Amino acid sequence: MAEVKDYTDIVGKPVIDELFILGDRASKLKIQHINSTAVGGGVAEILNRLIPMFGQVGVKSRWDVIKGDERFFLITKKMHNALHGVNETFTKEELNFFLEINKKNSSAINFDGDVVFIHDPQPIGLVEKRSQLNSKWVWRCHIDFSEPKEQIWLFLKNYIEKFDSAVFSAPAFSRKIATRQILISPSIDPLSDKNKSLDKNYIDSVFDRFKIDRSRPVVTQISRFDYLKDPVGVIKAYKLVKQYIDCQLVLAGGGATDDPEGEKVLADVNKAAAGDKDIFVLLLPPSSDLEINALQRGSTVVLQKSLREGFGLTVAEALWKEKPVIATSVGGIPLQIKHKYSGILTHSIEGTAYWIKQLINEPKFAAELGKNGYEHIRQNFLITRHLRDYLLLSLSLFSSDEVIYL
Ligand code: UDP
Repeated sequence: MAEVKDYTDIVGKPVIDELFILGDRASKLKIQHINSTAVGGGVAEILNRLIPMFGQVGVKSRWDVIKGDERFFLITKKMHNALHGVNETFTKEELNFFLEINKKNSSAINFDGDVVFIHDPQPIGLVEKRSQLNSKWVWRCHIDFSEPKEQIWLFLKNYIEKFDSAVFSAPAFSRKIATRQILISPSIDPLSDKNKSLDKNYIDSVFDRFKIDRSRPVVTQISRFDYLKDPVGVIKAYKLVKQYIDCQLVLAGGGATDDPEGEKVLADVNKAAAGDKDIFVLLLPPSSDLEINALQRGSTVVLQKSLREGFGLTVAEALWKEKPVIATSVGGIPLQIKHKYSGILTHSIEGTAYWIKQLINEPKFAAELGKNGYEHIRQNFLITRHLRDYLLLSLSLFSSDEVIYL
């Protein structure tokens, strides 16, 4: 596991020095994070890396994961979809069940943090505990909040307003609420197995293992099998390209323990891919970081054709590897990609297909996009900046000054 000092060559010494100064200031605080899965998806990805880093700069931290049964996670996935603008309604029983499971978790968790970060809606009901404690509470929202459905928004708003602060990933997600709102973008860890540089032979071996032919262009999307990642739309775009260019498509993903829809989406993907031996649908186990790293590095073009996206860590991961990325202009993706400068933003299947052809045919332009993307990620979306923002936010919660600048 990398030490904070190991990032000096990537981000520069002043950034690292600042982290230790802030760590020293926050050394009396314990920072607690609570979410709904230890494995799968962007939140777990970040916490896995961030939690040890708090300790390395001298700040105590802990990470708790709430427990729920299948019914609970079906309801929370429905909530997730409704917050992303999908038409879903909730019965009183469903909402009561959601709160009941939150209450059960509330009795089981030791809330000994001075700052408690609640990630996403699943554990939001835990905030009821706040009135019995002296700690500061932050609701950390990772989802695309640009067009939430009203019923679920009003239900959640009631809880969000009990927090000291709400953190969103992109400016477009801010809402009219009586809680202080803060923008903190997610980040990637450049030294993790997912993102560190890899030996060329290892990259070749991963492609060989999956029997993907590197002498022909490879177009890749890495994502959980989720409708909002539009894997079937990716297959349609690939099929349009395939009429002109002999390329291959890799759709690689796994599940998350708090996402019960994965199997159904995977079945739809397999159906859409049936009969084409140049489409590789790879179901990856959770411990596949090196394989994902290699697949991203060895691809000609990386896609992220999401219909909604909180931030899209996979975009940052691919740009960090200097890959040309074609992604939908939704959620946090435009923060990462400036069209035709650090990647390509699209709005449709046809647009995605058009740009796949362009980038395969213009490797020099594609390489330039990747280089610009790498620098943008280096300056804005690495884990050192994220750690700094969380430390500053935590410190600010204990100051009486209402105005803060992150
Ligand atoms: N990921 C993974 N294995 C998979 C699919 C995705 O490790 O099979 C990782 C991916 O590399 C990224 C994270 O999970 O780090 C997904 O984060 P993102 O913000 O792209 O989407 P989310 O799943 O949180 O909606």
